[in-house]
Amino acid sequence: MACAASGVASGLDVTHAMPVRITSPQLTGEKGWQSMGVAILRNASVLDPERGELAEGQSVAVEDGRIADVGPGLTGPDDALILDVAGRTVMPGLIDAHTHPAIVDADVFAMAEWSPTYVAARAGRALEGMLSRGFTTIRDVGAGEHGLARAVDEGFFTGPRMRFGGKQLSQTGGAGDWRAPSRRVYDDNYYAPAIGVICDGVPEVRRAVREEVRRGAHHIKVYLSGAVDSPSDRVDSTQFSIEELNAIVEEATAANIYVAGHAYTSRAINRGLECGVRSIEHGNLMDESSIPFFRASGAFYVPTIVTYQTLAKKARDGELPADIADKLAEVIDGALGALEMAHKAGLPIVYGTDLFADTHDQQLQEFVIRSEVQPPADLIRAATTTAAALLCMVGQVGVVAPGAYADLLVVDGNPLDDIRVLTAPDRNLKLIMKEGRVYKNEL
Ligand SMILES: [Zn+2]
Repeated sequence: MACAASGVASGLDVTHAMPVRITSPQLTGEKGWQSMGVAILRNASVLDPERGELAEGQSVAVEDGRIADVGPGLTGPDDALILDVAGRTVMPGLIDAHTHPAIVDADVFAMAEWSPTYVAARAGRALEGMLSRGFTTIRDVGAGEHGLARAVDEGFFTGPRMRFGGKQLSQTGGAGDWRAPSRRVYDDNYYAPAIGVICDGVPEVRRAVREEVRRGAHHIKVYLSGAVDSPSDRVDSTQFSIEELNAIVEEATAANIYVAGHAYTSRAINRGLECGVRSIEHGNLMDESSIPFFRASGAFYVPTIVTYQTLAKKARDGELPADIADKLAEVIDGALGALEMAHKAGLPIVYGTDLFADTHDQQLQEFVIRSEVQPPADLIRAATTTAAALLCMVGQVGVVAPGAYADLLVVDGNPLDDIRVLTAPDRNLKLIMKEGRVYKNEL
């Protein structure tokens, strides 16, 4: 259940072990990047998510992509880049733990006919948008894979650091089986609609996990219940047998990675948690019976309310097929209530959005929606320290502390007082730094 074995520093971090420096001239400058040696942010009010406090009059020293030191009056070498942030808030870059940058079009069935390189190019645009909103790390839970993450790490795409799980495991006719009922052949194109890999029975699910491990997955995503956007299942179904789920968790654990489970109802959530799933995604129809299962396992809850509200608007505008709109109506009302229940129970809640295609611009609205039931400090923890714990990246991301990646935002305003300052990044984000590289500087 924990970050298996040695966690962050284990073999799961192959593509992220070393900060990659952008040295090629054509990759510097054009997109706003600047390579840096040492940088010092001065006169900073540093936000500590765990304490929910600002520490004024601080400096943050950055070297080789990492935070070297935090404290008052830090100095550096003569050629250090000095950034006077004039008393503004300096906080860790945000983490969206449920994203789908590679689902680039609402017509996922049309995507079946597209070239993966074309899909990747459009995904690159989505990733760039996320970084511009202050997200420096994302967890891709469907469709994204090692090629996209590598393109970002090497600077060919501008975007957040990407933890990915490859294909989502689905039983035949399950939420990841996007074939129309009349279609027999399954398209194993890596991108949507083959967002899922279809596997039935213990040997097949073991092979499916091992295949994603082979491709570098940081986690395994499994459908524990039906979904809204799938053509042939019910949202209140459970999916996979206990034997299959145990085998999936066993294989993931063997590889020192964890399993994330898509589920709506407590019936599906509880059996997933009993089998050792580390995070529950969505959980809109969860009831109190799930709280003890979360507590016993230490699992994380990742609501994704904004995507349902965004889809609901599309449904009102007649842009969704009738069957999808009906399934949406089943889950939308429960979402905020489930969050409130989890919040009152003190469960570890993580920021996620589940947006795709042309809706990523709503990515920060999840803060606004959740603010109806959670105070700003909790919302910030969900997108920083608690998300880092889920991703097995404690101390690496989500904090302004020595040793962490230098993923820093300079914010006009104090999000601990008003979370909405984060929802206007064009105006309020004065600096976006990822791994020591400046993406945006309006200081
Ligand atoms: Zn999703």
